[in-house]
Amino acid sequence: MIDPRRTRILNSCSDKPGAVIYWMSRDQRLNHNWALLFAREKATQKGQPLVVVFTLAPSFLNAPFRHYDFMLKGLEETAKALERINIPFMLLEGEPDKEISRYACQSEAGAVVTDFSPLNISRNWKKKAADILDIPLYEVDAHNIVPCWYVSDKQEYAARTLRPKLQARLDEFLVPYPPLLPGPVQAPHLHHRSPDWKQVRERLQKDRSVPPVNRIVPGETAAAESLENFIKGRLSGYATARNDPNGNALSQLSPYLHFGQISAQHVALRVAESHAPQEDKAAFLEELIIRRELSDNFCNYNPDYDRFEGIPAWAKQTLLLHGQDKREYLYTIDVFEKAATHDELWNAAQSELVQTGKIHGYMRMYWAKKILEWSSSPPEAFEVAIYLNDRYALDGRDPNGYAGVAWSIGGLHDRPWFERPVYGNIRYMNASGCRRKFDVDRYISRFREPVTLFPNA
Ligand SMILES: Cc1cc2nc3c(=O)[nH]c(=O)nc-3n(C[C@H](O)[C@H](O)[C@H](O)COP(=O)(O)OP(=O)(O)OC[C@H]3O[C@@H](n4cnc5c(N)ncnc54)[C@H](O)[C@@H]3O)c2cc1C
Repeated sequence: MIDPRRTRILNSCSDKPGAVIYWMSRDQRLNHNWALLFAREKATQKGQPLVVVFTLAPSFLNAPFRHYDFMLKGLEETAKALERINIPFMLLEGEPDKEISRYACQSEAGAVVTDFSPLNISRNWKKKAADILDIPLYEVDAHNIVPCWYVSDKQEYAARTLRPKLQARLDEFLVPYPPLLPGPVQAPHLHHRSPDWKQVRERLQKDRSVPPVNRIVPGETAAAESLENFIKGRLSGYATARNDPNGNALSQLSPYLHFGQISAQHVALRVAESHAPQEDKAAFLEELIIRRELSDNFCNYNPDYDRFEGIPAWAKQTLLLHGQDKREYLYTIDVFEKAATHDELWNAAQSELVQTGKIHGYMRMYWAKKILEWSSSPPEAFEVAIYLNDRYALDGRDPNGYAGVAWSIGGLHDRPWFERPVYGNIRYMNASGCRRKFDVDRYISRFREPVTLFPNA
């Protein structure tokens, strides 16, 4: 039985006879998915069919084609794998709350199960759907190892306050997954039609100005291969090599984790049972579990997670106090986007983002802090950093991104440092610090190509 602490109900309706719908959203996978397992369990208990439904929103936080392409290719693979085990998959296009409610009514479903996201847009969809539906809407946290609402009931100050709470619960929650059994009952009445994926992609009138990246193959199979390659080849040495942007020490799993094409819990279990040195496993699990789940905690309890207003009071105060300080350089969003600042190192990071859909984790901090230093105000810097990260990063639009920007620009989960112009007490970073850590010239030479922005064709 799925741990009941992992699930909650979002309205006050009771189960009815009829199919169980898994409204797949953040966790776009067949394997290792607590929400799908819970829906499957419910369908068996009720002796009813199970159907998986994905609602494709006309717009998701201005995601460009790069992101839709990655997501749709991953969904196509998952849909085909589900159908092979007798679980039909439906793709509905339109406003998610309306589409799911309409489909539940039309198919006379008995319960809807969905996965958890702390982002405002998803919460609003679920709230509206919960109000419209006359059957229960269950929510299952299939993204965090310890359910976000269970581990803490408030916004945590820092990793040091969340860490002991998570560690105290890992024995109970970091457990192997049961197998997913084939669909329980045939469901001829569910108006099921396999999506025409090519047509869906062609029909998408999305912003095509940010093309897909070839570096990373979407989907569950590629995600699983990436994990195994990382464990075999790069996990040993992760603790020391991860801060070198020229090295290849990182897992590169963040796009897969973001789109739910791989389960963090599965990653944690595979890493924990590997033969890599303890210090490397510990360093990786600190990022994957503590830092990642801290980001969900931040977004879950702070609705202003993507705005200057959401940063801690001390940080707001110090930044506003230094709001009028003279900036040595001042850039608009266009200059940042084209990687055309005076600083070759910053431009290289921005080029890495545009070209590869990701910036190395160490350079991400430098990149965001310099946007603070060279923008006319801290709220503007916040907006620019989130705009660029969400537009180009394949792992963007994620609690990790919102927490990362709020950490770099707004002192979130950090402490006050020595006071200095523009930054106030926010932790500072500069290029000479980077030079002491890694071969800056080599990094610049890797991403020296000018940034080409594509017209919205
Ligand atoms: C300004 C800024 C913006 C960021 N934007 C994003 C973003 O949009 N999406 C995103 O997933 N991460 C973001 N991060 C966090 C971090 O940089 C990335 O998670 C990491 O670089 C992803 O690469 P990886 O999977 O190869 O990392 P690895 O080092 O292999 O880490 C494995 C996983 O651990 C988690 N993780 C690692 N570092 C962090 C961190 N600092 N905070 C939270 N979780 C972490 C991620 O899920 C990551 O995939 C941002 C950080 C900063 C400072």
